[in-house]
Amino acid sequence: MAVQPTTDALRPPLSREAIAERVARLPRLPLAVLPTPLQACENLSERLGVRLYVKRDDLTGLAFGGNKTRQLEFLLAAAREQGATIVLAGAGTQSNLCRQTCAAAARLGLPVDLTLLSGVKGRLMQGNYLLHHLLGAKVTVLETDDWSALSRVLAARAARLRAAGERPFVLDPRGPLNSLAAVAYVDAFLELEAQWESADLRPDAIYLAGANITPAGLALGARLRGSPVVIRAVSPVRWPEPRAVDIAGIATEAASRLELPVRLDPAEIDVDEEHVGDGYGLAGPAVYDAIRLAARSEGLLLDPVYTGKAFAALLEHIADGRVPPDSTVIFLHTGGQPALFAYSEELSAE
Ligand SMILES: *Cc1c(COP(=O)(O)O)cnc(C)c1O
Repeated sequence: MAVQPTTDALRPPLSREAIAERVARLPRLPLAVLPTPLQACENLSERLGVRLYVKRDDLTGLAFGGNKTRQLEFLLAAAREQGATIVLAGAGTQSNLCRQTCAAAARLGLPVDLTLLSGVKGRLMQGNYLLHHLLGAKVTVLETDDWSALSRVLAARAARLRAAGERPFVLDPRGPLNSLAAVAYVDAFLELEAQWESADLRPDAIYLAGANITPAGLALGARLRGSPVVIRAVSPVRWPEPRAVDIAGIATEAASRLELPVRLDPAEIDVDEEHVGDGYGLAGPAVYDAIRLAARSEGLLLDPVYTGKAFAALLEHIADGRVPPDSTVIFLHTGGQPALFAYSEELSAE
């Protein structure tokens, strides 16, 4: 009798259980409070003429939460497997990734060495930068905003630590671990899909602030499930290279980490790069208006760096019909609220 080629069983759509079983083969640490809630926004729905829900990944529960906590469940499990003795990470001084990394590493008893780009807010002792210190990291600030300089400095610090007998685990935001982190958002897609099914919803679109990892994981999750939902990632930063290429690449690599022969094409990735404004960490009036609207109609806090830009994009797309009336939309809240306190001047200048 002919044996079915095994790859046939691996062609999408796969059941949630089959995908979850593959996710469960990877080492993982329980850092996040899951599932995060999916909540209806009744006031905004009525005002905007769509059915709006918010997936609260700002409530992942670790030191003010956010999307990085899910990702760190896989990243720091790898660090632990490798016998890491110290975690090296880097990004801007108001980095949510670094804050959540410091908190997770504290729970594992690992020291953290942060290298930060000075960015828009420099050394302002507020928000995430304050929390990096509170959480016990060793902090070095580079007087540049050049991300490739950051990669070089991280690599050099790691080499020095290795020579001194340490085993550093390096979280380079441009490094090869992005596809491992994306697996967390394949899993989050399964969690969210199960929630909308049990609430009897049929979402047309998911909006989120996404740079690379989170949209890659969600896009792969949707593809593996054969879901028609539109996943629209609103970019907080303008990159030299087209985002969709990178995101599709991360998603394809994440699929191979799950041992699934699936390739995502850049054409399948929906990235909005029109709401960056003047640059990373710089927000215009539409973003502050969006932040006030969410706060005053739902008690929902967004931030000027990520989620405020994504929400401003959603409001614009509802207003211009790109999101048609009566659509069901899920806004994935990726966190980032501590940065609000670094933007107190902009926020109070109403
Ligand atoms: C890091 C971050 C993002 C982008 O996440 P990616 O996984 O890099 O796509 C979005 N929102 C917030 C609040 C973040 O901290």
